[in-house]
This record gives sequence, C-alpha cells and structure tokens, in this order.
Amino acid sequence: MRASDSIWRDAIDVDLARHPGGSIDADVAVIGSGLGGLSAALHLLLTRPGRSVVVLEASQLGHGASSRSAGMLTPGVGQNLPGIIRRAGKASAKAMYEATLHAVEYAGELTREQDIDCQLRMSGQLAIAHGRSGRHRLAVVAAALGQLGLPHETMNDAQLSETLRLAVVAGGRGPAALRLPIAGVLNPGLLVSGLARAVMRRGGRLYSGARVLAIGRGRPVHLPIAGGGEVRARDVVVATSAYSESLGVQRGRVIPVHLRVLLTAPLDDRQLDRLGWAGREGVIDSRRIFNYFRLTEDRRVLFGGGVPIYRKGGATDEHGSRDVFDPLRGELAATFGEDLGLRVERAWSGPIGYVLDTLPVIQRLHTHPSVVFVGGWCGHGIALSLRSGKWVADIIDGAAAPADLPWFRAAAPLVPFEPVRRIAVPACSWGMSLLDRL
Ligand SMILES: Cc1cc2nc3c(=O)[nH]c(=O)nc-3n(C[C@H](O)[C@H](O)[C@H](O)COP(=O)(O)OP(=O)(O)OC[C@H]3O[C@@H](n4cnc5c(N)ncnc54)[C@H](O)[C@@H]3O)c2cc1C
Repeated sequence: MRASDSIWRDAIDVDLARHPGGSIDADVAVIGSGLGGLSAALHLLLTRPGRSVVVLEASQLGHGASSRSAGMLTPGVGQNLPGIIRRAGKASAKAMYEATLHAVEYAGELTREQDIDCQLRMSGQLAIAHGRSGRHRLAVVAAALGQLGLPHETMNDAQLSETLRLAVVAGGRGPAALRLPIAGVLNPGLLVSGLARAVMRRGGRLYSGARVLAIGRGRPVHLPIAGGGEVRARDVVVATSAYSESLGVQRGRVIPVHLRVLLTAPLDDRQLDRLGWAGREGVIDSRRIFNYFRLTEDRRVLFGGGVPIYRKGGATDEHGSRDVFDPLRGELAATFGEDLGLRVERAWSGPIGYVLDTLPVIQRLHTHPSVVFVGGWCGHGIALSLRSGKWVADIIDGAAAPADLPWFRAAAPLVPFEPVRRIAVPACSWGMSLLDRL
C-alpha cells in the first residue's frame, strides 16, 4: 500500500516550494512537516513574530504518519493508565494524563485561533470490552481513572447499545464500555494543510523535496540537503519521529513500527441505522493489541489496529504487499458483523516512532545542544504533537523545562539492536495477543 492511498492526502491542498538549492540561513530550521514539525514552526513564529523559520520536508507536506492516521484525538500516552501508574506512580501518571487532556482541549483552541477547519468534533471516545477479560480490564482502567479523579463514565450494555451497536462486545460482569468525554475526531489532511498555511501566513518558509542528510555540530548548525545546498540555522528542531534513525538521532531509541488502517465505502442509511453511532465517537477496544475505529464525515468506517509491524533494518517505506491487511479485514468483519456488509475501498499503512517505555521525548540533544528533538508518540501523537510546539518554542527560547513531566528528557531508553530487535518486537506483540486471547 502506498501513502497516497490515505484518504486524508486528498484533502492536502497546499503545494510547497521545492528546496531551491544553494545556502539558506534561518534562525530555526525544523526538520519534518508532520504535525510535530508544523506545530513547532507555528509556535516559534507566534512566540516571536519575525523570527526566520524554515521547515524542511524530505517528501511532500505531511508525508509521514500525520497524513495517514485515524484522526482520533485522544487523551493518554502509549501504555494503558494502570501500567503507567505502576511504573511512574500515581502523581506522575495523573500529571501526564492531565497534560494530555489539556493537549486535546488545546487542539480545539489552536484550530479556532488559527481559523483551521479540520472537521474537529469533540465527540468523546468509547473504550469497549473485547474478549473474555475485556470487562475486567475496563473495570481496572475505570478504577484507575476514578482513583486519580480523571473524567470518565462507565456504560452498561443498554447504555452502550443506545450509543453504538457492534457485533463484538463481550459478555460477562463489569462495564460494557467506558466513555472518555474529552476526546474527538478530525480530518488530519485538513489539519496539516491548515497548519502549513498558518506557518506561511507568518512568514515561515516550507520546502518539499528537502531531505536533510546529516546534522552538523556547533552553531550555526549546518544541514546538508540531498541533491545539493544546505541550510544554516542557529537552532534546529528534529520532528522526524519514525524516520529519525536515518538522521543518526535517537538511534535505537525511537524505532519505526508500521500501523495499518482500512477504509470502507460510505455507509448507507440502513447500515447506519443498525449501528446507531449518532455521536460519531472514536472507539478503541480493551485489548493489549487493540483495534480502533471511527466514522468519517462522509460516513465511512476507518478501522485500524492489529499487531504493529517492525520491518527489517527499520525500513520506513510502504509495504509492497496487500497481504498485511488481511488480518485487519477479519477484525473489521468480526467487530461489525459480516451481515452489515461493509466493503473495504482503501487500505494504507504508516510508520510511527515507538519508544520502549511508550512515552514521548522532547528536549535538547546532549550530543547537539543546538538541536531539540520532539517525537516518539507511540501512536497517540495527534493531541500531544500539536501541543508540543509551544513546549519546543519555550525550550528554544531558553525557558526551563516547561513542566515536571517525564517526557522532557534528552533520550528514550535503548531498544535492543538488530537482529535481536527483529525477533523481540514480534515476540512481544505475539505475547500480548496471547494474553488477550487467554
Ligand atoms: C495508521 C496510523 C494511525 C494513527 N492513528 C492515530 C490516531 O488515531 N490518533 C493519534 O493521536 N495518533 C495516531 N497516529 C500517530 C500520529 O499520526 C502521529 O503521532 C502524529 O501525526 C505526529 O507525527 P510526527 O509529526 O511526529 O511525525 P510524522 O508525521 O511522521 O512526520 C515526520 C516527517 O519528517 C519527514 N522526514 C523524515 N526524515 C527527514 C529528513 N531526513 N529530512 C527532512 N524531512 C524528513 C517525513 O517525510 C515526515 O513527513 C497514527 C499513525 C498511523 C501511521
């Protein structure tokens, strides 16, 4: 599948100039035009108007995960809340979760202020019980949310079926679903385009086809561009997430794993009536290896999930084979029921930056003090990457770490290198699916 199969790419209507070659000087160069890079560029221009900011994109605007996501604006960080509490303690887990709630709300503020219509709906999010242990897992999450005073509602079967009627919800004792009220869905293509326009309106320069080959040391930082030319900048922001290893940044710490999604044909009235889903909530299921899905504005089901895939050598290009989508087709049919007659029209995949402890990384690099890294969202990046632009601007302008949160750190924990990694990543995923089935 190719990135261009993503329906969101159809909505990207901003053409970037090609990098002109030669030497360009800037106060700040941002590498990567995903949500992380665009938000950093925008906030650098908002906090200090007139600053010269250049965004360098190896491919096309929003080429990476940002134009291929499910568009679910969700609170929380990678691992589930009880796991984060066990590892980081209650106070830190609460602070992180609250920061992500603010990030979700900030997406609304930022898009309103910047006049970005990205079809944002604050629909809330459902976590539904799946499998025999599903209700128990949801009860544990609900208890953790309750213990920390975080917003949520539990739903019984009747309440869930008034909201959404699925084939897959497991029986048993405990909640059928949780509702997270501070969450939403949006159109990632419109978001990327709107952010790029906002950066340009404030004088930011964005270039496509500008693959940065290396990051120089010292100040100004020299960034050679593939095909000729270079950019010299006083400060650099690296917002390349899954692609960072190829720049020699966060090597072995932020690794690329591929997520997959399917998109159905628009649902007809009969199909929608059967499902309910008037609130168009984003949905995730309760498993360790979970599925997630939502309804698009044009009534298609966008369905993602399954085991994240690590490819040999940390490859970040698209899968050549359609077979990788077969298990997901089975999950789609099982979730909605074969008889609903959903027809898949598109499928695509995209690489995300995965971190062993599932927390992002936002800080200056020890090895390159003029360089700030931002990324490693572990698949939950829409809200946090939008919010991170302000944090990045604060770090560049010399403010202390913006808050006492564990993700303001220079490096993530080291993941084993190849060939161990190639065995360990699928083995972990397999182990988690097995636990889900048991
Ligand atoms: C299938 C899928 C579903 C997802 N669903 C959700 C979801 O529902 N909710 C959610 O919160 N998150 C989701 N995510 C994750 C989310 O999309 C990302 O976390 C978010 O978009 C932030 O991305 P980013 O800007 O850090 O990285 P990216 O969007 O990957 O941007 C990195 C950019 O850097 C560019 N680049 C790389 N190397 C270089 C170089 N050397 N020189 C110049 N440019 C370079 C790349 O071309 C790319 O455009 C999903 C991701 C995928 C793939």
